[in-house]
Amino acid sequence: MKIKAEPLTLSLRTPFRIAHGTSTTRQNVLVRIEDGVGVAAIVPYYATTVDDVIAYARSPQLAESLGDDPAMLEDMLDRLPPGPAPARAAVDVALHDLWGKHLGMALWRLWGLNPGRAPLSSYTLGIAEENEFRQKVREVHDLPILKIKLGAGSLDRDEALVRIARQETAARLCVDANAAWTVEEALAIIPRLATYDLLFIEQPLAQHDLDGWRQLASRLPAEHPPLIADESVHDAQDILKLAGAADGINIKLAKCGGLREARRMIALARTLGMKVMLGCMVESSVGVTAAGHLAPLVDYADLDGNLTVDNDPYQGMRWDKGKLELPILPGLGVVRQ
Ligand code: MG
Repeated sequence: MKIKAEPLTLSLRTPFRIAHGTSTTRQNVLVRIEDGVGVAAIVPYYATTVDDVIAYARSPQLAESLGDDPAMLEDMLDRLPPGPAPARAAVDVALHDLWGKHLGMALWRLWGLNPGRAPLSSYTLGIAEENEFRQKVREVHDLPILKIKLGAGSLDRDEALVRIARQETAARLCVDANAAWTVEEALAIIPRLATYDLLFIEQPLAQHDLDGWRQLASRLPAEHPPLIADESVHDAQDILKLAGAADGINIKLAKCGGLREARRMIALARTLGMKVMLGCMVESSVGVTAAGHLAPLVDYADLDGNLTVDNDPYQGMRWDKGKLELPILPGLGVVRQ
């Protein structure tokens, strides 16, 4: 099978600030396998680079592993060489797209899913100074769910951002600390934030602080917004470590390595009684749409990573004020614009 890999620099309409830093552009790598397409989202705070993805996509081991029958999706995925998660995700998504096109059906349809069960997606607001943040909330006040990035520098500033959002919109609110708090800070701020009736709180603690997650589970009041692990959970193995500590997980293709692993994670999290959220990186609609095909299986969707991108070469899942409309074309259903 013919494989092509090409870097893609996405430019953002407005700089995006989170606890890990500020970005005005983000790197992706588009991977094409025959007429299937996938994307690797390169995230500044994870280790994989554009060159790593291109080296993986162009490796002879990958070419040898694919075979010549696009209907044999599981076999192809079983044979993929090891490599960084974003690179494997791009190949996994391209193979799913190719499989769906070969069979003539959209992925959600091949999986037997009801697109009407996809939850509304949140829209993410980056960290900003208070006046600027108030203005940003006003611009999107009519969206149904807003996700507020925290880790703004102090707990008071974090709470102020949530308070401002509450004053300016009737939307459901949720927050993402992006690993910014210590255990003691999380214990102090979470009950304060709970008074704003949050849908969930994402990644309060540092990525590897498993002991901290357990402390939160035992020391927080029983009634608190669900705590969702993002940076702390990359693949299904990580879910087992957090069982009984985190209330839910945030699945992203760039972390777990693709749609097949994402589906395993959903099944495992459900077995353990955990909530499931589907997220994305700042990425082309190729990646956001791929994740979108799984949205009917999850509790929360945060699939807005393509909305502020100025130069996305593809169009896929439509977004209508947080309502996700899955494509009906075969495979991913994305088209080059
Ligand atoms: Mg997050």
